[in-house]
This record gives sequence, structure tokens and C-alpha cells, in this order.
Amino acid sequence: MTQKNTAIITGASSGIGQATAKELAARGYHVMLAARREERLVDLKKEIEAEGGSADYQVTDVTSADEMKSLAQAALEKNGKIDILVNNAGLMPLSYMNKLKLDEWDKMVDVNIKGVLYGIAAVLPIMEQQKFGHILNVSSVAGHQVMKGSAVYSGTKYAVRAISDGLRQEIDPSHEIRVTIVSPGAVATELTNTITDDDVLDSFKSMSESMEPLQAEDIANAIGYAVEQPPHVDVNEILIRPRQQP
Ligand code: NDP
Repeated sequence: MTQKNTAIITGASSGIGQATAKELAARGYHVMLAARREERLVDLKKEIEAEGGSADYQVTDVTSADEMKSLAQAALEKNGKIDILVNNAGLMPLSYMNKLKLDEWDKMVDVNIKGVLYGIAAVLPIMEQQKFGHILNVSSVAGHQVMKGSAVYSGTKYAVRAISDGLRQEIDPSHEIRVTIVSPGAVATELTNTITDDDVLDSFKSMSESMEPLQAEDIANAIGYAVEQPPHVDVNEILIRPRQQP
């Protein structure tokens, strides 16, 4: 079995996850791509390989602890170790609370919080056994501040920061295991496609049009910086906004 540096990326079928997969592949990692849309993962694997990188994919729904475990096992079996997990998959169906979009609240809790927890559960035992690894959990500027319409989404992203910081403190200090929170501001991706509340969508669009957003590659670069620090350095959090975002 080879011992190639390996990174698992959830939500790799679009936006930040896709850009992060390309960035880590370019930095020499074997990337294990995970999301639900298989065609996109197939295309990304081909694109990475055409550029000289190395990739595999496994169709995975992060809301299933079993599927996340199976994803980690597949990466481990292929390369003998897991260096990095980027818990990136997420949804942002913003809405005012009095619209009572319970189904969307459930989805955000399931994907944005439980998905991150299941990712941690899938790799932590492996990383503890290896005594090294790096878990990066994607939160948001919305994990630092709440706006009208973002109550539940922000709640999930505050939770991601709490979970990440708690995990970081619990790591055995003799292990080279790092935890990083990635908190982007507005990034031009497909994330807003899940917003069904027209009132929120209108105000969100006008806010977005008032600034030049980040590109997914900007976040991927920041992740590349965090993972390439020497082992005694843990970049605890990357908070990165468009220059014009308040
Ligand atoms: P995209 O909508 O472009 O990507 C979201 C990704 O999540 C897709 O690849 C999607 O894949 C995946 N996903 C959604 N649900 C599931 C699921 N149940 N199982 C597996 N994968 C799933 O958005 P972004 O790239 O912008 O979002 C990535 C992360 O960044 C999210 O956590 C988001 O909250 C966060 N973020 C984004 C910001 C932005 O402005 N764009 C700002 C701050 C944070 P598929 O549908 O194929 O399963």
C-alpha cells in the first residue's frame, strides 16, 4: 500500500469544496472527493488527473454516519493514512423564523452540524491511532454574527465553531492532530440557490451586489496555508471576508 498524503473533502462537487480539492491536489495530496452528485465528482476527478494530480471519489451523504465512516475507510484503505479532513458540505436556506420552514431548519442541522460531527467521528479514531492529522471545519462569518434571516444558519455555524474549539482542546498534546475553523464571508458559489424565502433572497442579493465577493479559490488558498504550517503550529481559525464586507 502506498502512503501518499491524503485529504478527504466533503461538498467537493461545487464551490469551496471543489476549489479546495484542486488546491490540495496541486499541493500533492491524494484527494478523496465526497458529495451526493456523482457526475460532478467524476468530472472533477478527471480534471484533477488531467492536471497531474491524484483523486478518487465516493458518493456520500454527510447526514449518514455510516456513509461518512465508509468514506474514511475507503481513503484509509487506498493510502494507509488520512492526513486531512475538510468538513465543508453545507446548506444555507436563509429565512425569517416566522416563516416556520421546519424542513429547512432540519436540513441545516443535519448537514451543517451533524455532518461535521459524523466527519469527526469517522476520522478521529484513525487520526488518534496515527497520532497525526488535521480536521478543518467550515463555519462562516455567520458563525460570528447573526443577521435577520440567518438565525438558524448562524446557529449551525456557531455550533461548528464551538465543536471545533472543544475538539481542539481535547486533543492529546502528544499527538500532532490539528483543528482549524474556516470562517468565510461572502463567496461567489451556488450556496444561495437553497434560499426559498423571497424576502431574504432580495435583501441578500442587494447586499451581495454592493461588494466584490471572494472566489472559492480564495478560501482554498487559505486552507492550503493552514495545512502546510509546521506541525507545532495550529491555525485555529481563518476568518476571511471580502474587503468591502462590513
Ligand atoms: P455550494 O452550494 O457551492 O456547495 C455546497 C456543497 O455541499 C456541495 O458540494 C454539495 O454537494 C454539498 N452538500 C450539501 N448537502 C450535502 C449532503 N447532505 N451530503 C454531502 N454533501 C452535501 O456552497 P459553498 O461552496 O459556498 O459552501 C461550502 C461551505 O462553505 C458550506 O458549509 C457553507 O456554509 C460555507 N460557507 C459559504 C459561504 C459563501 O458565501 N459561499 C460563506 C461562509 C461559509 P451535493 O449537492 O452534490 O451533495
